[in-house]
Amino acid sequence: MAYVSAKEMMTDAKQRRYAVGHFNLNNMESIRAFLLAAQEMQSPIILGVSGGTAQYMGGYRTIVGTVKPFMDHLGITVPVALHVDHGTYEQVLEAIEAGFSSVMFDGSALPFEENLRLTEELVGICRQKGVSLECEVGGIGGAEDGVVTMGELADPEECRRLAELGIDMLAAGIGNIHGKYPPDWPGLRFDLLEEINRVTDGLPLVLHGGSQIPPAMLQRAIAAGICKINVNTECQLAFTAAVREYIEQGRDLMGSGYAPRALLAPGVEATKRVAMEKMQLFGSAGKASA
Ligand SMILES: [Zn+2]
Repeated sequence: MAYVSAKEMMTDAKQRRYAVGHFNLNNMESIRAFLLAAQEMQSPIILGVSGGTAQYMGGYRTIVGTVKPFMDHLGITVPVALHVDHGTYEQVLEAIEAGFSSVMFDGSALPFEENLRLTEELVGICRQKGVSLECEVGGIGGAEDGVVTMGELADPEECRRLAELGIDMLAAGIGNIHGKYPPDWPGLRFDLLEEINRVTDGLPLVLHGGSQIPPAMLQRAIAAGICKINVNTECQLAFTAAVREYIEQGRDLMGSGYAPRALLAPGVEATKRVAMEKMQLFGSAGKASA
């Protein structure tokens, strides 16, 4: 099965009130874990590639040429979108050229008018190529240089103007944070989410930093218009904890337990388990076929 754009996924998610999970690739193990999780849960899935991952895994072209044959090898039949996570304008163009089926242009750090101008250009390019486009406004808080912010809040008027350009998904800060949440985090701003949903006229909304947000809060967010939830940190924490346990139990010292595939296997299992739990929670399980 070929990569699909996330546009149809979003339309279905909006109609049937669930959210599609966006899981970040980091290495070969993560590709295996997420594809198997999606297939087992019969869930659509969005595989996210950050600039760092693209660098590490040999560039966008290598990733495009790796995930698809991997899907065929595993017999994956559920819809899979290969998506750029927080791309610059240049990265997005490069990834589209390489064959990505979905992209996120993150112009949130640019002056708003500049973000708007570049987004408008990308809407044209993405439409022509059949690639889905996610944009961001207002920035999303998180740990940067050791300083954890409480999560930024998007301006509804800016959301409206960006939505008007014809983008497919919008990421707007509603108090969500990348990375680990601080114990005194005040929670998502549902009043703001509802307002953004209203002014963007039902455009599918994206929640970044979906790790560690309480389930009830996530379900309320889905009911209020969130159609895509990005999960990364929780998968990474599960992976590392499982590999740590393997080493602490001294299993790497038994037989050929030192082999990299054996060492990382518990990490793959743990990552897969987290992804499957999220698909259940987001309501995307069983939604692979309409
Ligand atoms: Zn993000």
